[in-house]
Amino acid sequence: MAKVRFDGVRKVYDNGQVAVHGASFEIADGELMVLVGPSGCGKSTLLRMVAGLEEISAGTLSIGDRVVNDVAPKDRDIAMVFQNYALYPHMTVAENLAFGLKLRGHEKAEVQRRVQGAAEALGLTSMLDTLPRAMSGGQRQRVALGRALVREPEVFLLDEPLSNLDAKLRHSVRTEIAQLHRKLGTTMIYVTHDQVEAMTLGQRIVVLSEGVIQQIDTPMALYDRP
Ligand code: ADP
Ligand code: ADP
Repeated sequence: MAKVRFDGVRKVYDNGQVAVHGASFEIADGELMVLVGPSGCGKSTLLRMVAGLEEISAGTLSIGDRVVNDVAPKDRDIAMVFQNYALYPHMTVAENLAFGLKLRGHEKAEVQRRVQGAAEALGLTSMLDTLPRAMSGGQRQRVALGRALVREPEVFLLDEPLSNLDAKLRHSVRTEIAQLHRKLGTTMIYVTHDQVEAMTLGQRIVVLSEGVIQQIDTPMALYDRP
């Protein structure tokens, strides 16, 4: 069964800009799908529509067996990781991870279980009492990943999560994201403008240009027929 399904999805912004021209494709349950293309091709718009942060102008978008066109972001079973890891500066790692869950009224034991689990999955266990300012960029981005992880969503949305990191860190965080995907088996949609990142990370890749899907294929197939 498809986990995320676009059926003739179109996005026209208020100023008349057509960002996505009738996209139809499916992302399988557990798949890591990368959306790639140059700046302005519509990647973020597609992702933000899955998150519910942009209205859909036409077509239908489904998550699981539910059409989500009119479902509010908080009622979608997704979590998004942004390129600017906005951590709360005055809170420790543990508090940053726990904050959203507490707001949502999860019980203390459940919050602790999820925070411990995310910290272990991301190698942050020894940093739970650390403040963000005492951490490296890569560690902070891991906390940002952790804040999405504790929500235990059905679908992870990652919008250029490596773009604020230097080349070396980019490589290690990219490897961690791949490992995380293998460990969790959760559906992931990953947006990047970097072709190398797309080819190394994606199980399949959607190639976009000016709001139109050019190709959808595995890295191997795209490599053979660029
Ligand atoms: P990408 O993520 O590939 O860089 P975007 O999805 O951000 O592309 O943008 C796709 C197109 O839609 C671009 O032409 C961009 O300028 C335009 N766009 C994005 N956001 C808005 C907006 N809020 N209002 C009007 N046009 C927008
Ligand atoms: P926090 O911002 O600390 O995560 P909440 O979990 O209460 O706090 O989230 C507030 C709102 O933002 C909710 O509507 C929630 O659905 C949404 N939200 C929070 N984190 C994410 C995320 N990583 N991805 C998508 N939506 C999120």
